[in-house]
Amino acid sequence: MTASAPRYMARFRCIAEACEDTCCAGLTVPISESRWSLLRQKVAGGPDEARVAALITPNPGDTTGSQAGILGKRADGHCAFLDEAKLCSLQRKHGEAVLPDGCSVFPRVLTRWGARVEMAGSLACPETARLCLLADDALVLESVDETQALRPQLARQVASGDDAWTAHADAVREAMLRLLARREVPFSTRLYALGRMALDLGDFYFPGTTAFAQGTTAFAQEATELRMSAEATELRPSAEAAPPDAAEAPRTADARLTGILRDAGSMDALEALRGQLEALELPGGPWAGICGAVLRSREAHVSSPRFLSLMRDVRAAYGGADTSPDEAWRLHVTRRTALESLRGERVQQYFLHHALNHVLRHPFTESQSLLRAVFFLVLRASVVRWVLLGHPAVVALLDSPGTPVATLDAAAVECFQLVAKHVEQAPQFLEFAEGLAGEGPETFARLLILVKGL
Ligand code: SF4
Repeated sequence: MTASAPRYMARFRCIAEACEDTCCAGLTVPISESRWSLLRQKVAGGPDEARVAALITPNPGDTTGSQAGILGKRADGHCAFLDEAKLCSLQRKHGEAVLPDGCSVFPRVLTRWGARVEMAGSLACPETARLCLLADDALVLESVDETQALRPQLARQVASGDDAWTAHADAVREAMLRLLARREVPFSTRLYALGRMALDLGDFYFPGTTAFAQGTTAFAQEATELRMSAEATELRPSAEAAPPDAAEAPRTADARLTGILRDAGSMDALEALRGQLEALELPGGPWAGICGAVLRSREAHVSSPRFLSLMRDVRAAYGGADTSPDEAWRLHVTRRTALESLRGERVQQYFLHHALNHVLRHPFTESQSLLRAVFFLVLRASVVRWVLLGHPAVVALLDSPGTPVATLDAAAVECFQLVAKHVEQAPQFLEFAEGLAGEGPETFARLLILVKGL
């Protein structure tokens, strides 16, 4: 059996003691009942029996057995089973099979599309962030042996194909990936186009839609209804009544979907959207306010010294805690323009790879709508853009144009990794994003504000 994965994940190997972070630092690590039982069997009668008994405690909130126990933490926030070389002592002595699922699989993110397993990566691992953001071929999809996915049985089933929402998911996702990769237009235009495409699909392509079940039967029925309504309102004499021609004909949902996906990536459409976006004048203060609020809310819940130190630096770089969002926005725009002219292509690559990986890693079928999934992508990109342009190394290099690109790369890896680890998946962030997205067309209006900030 094979799985598919972006090339950077096929290249991934844990760098263990050389890692600037560790997977478990600052995170809660649960263990399933079955894995805990296997571990107890393996350590029974040996020197680790007492440690395992003392350092794993039952999780009273677990109802399914999937998170039956919680691994203990050291005072520095690392897992109690991590050794001096930053390696897992349980894995070293008892093998991979005893590891909790999260430890075994991380930073791999496994999903099952129909019968096919896909392996994307979480940028919460510094090594995956490096491999994903910095290599220009990182996002090329290729086949890997399923054993590389480790525990493929854990893959989330995201597109079963037995309803219209998931049956068309592959085609929609393909169109998203193609659109994002259209480097002929700015990245912000591509995100805007993605939002536009989602909006256009939104009235008939959503979870639970029945528009597709109608198919050609519905088309015939709709044509008859149109004719009858024309007759009833005497728009034309019944003798002349005939099925509507192609121009008038209602289109099937399949045809509409195909047309929207095709047109979304056309150069004409992209150029038109680029013009619209450039002509649009929106205040930037709200964008700066949103990014700042997201980060402040996370600071209260995160104990990672690396994250907290970066947040302090970023806040200072935007003028400190008392700066107004408008003032912070002005600083951001100045830096964005300067960085664009210095290292524009490199920065575009980071954000493109982050977005492509986002589409692979967060299947949109898990959202309430495609537009909402795009909104989350744009919000995550906005937050990391804000952090990057407040990173001290980035601020400094704008004054020293000869700074090697490796300095920018290192800052980018730090920003994307720390935001992925401590912001993007946090319940408080997801809740905030849900509220910010609003409902229906207002989601699109809010998405526009975010896109303008990018
Ligand atoms: S964060 Fe990544 S590189 Fe670091 S220890 Fe974990 S898997 Fe290895």
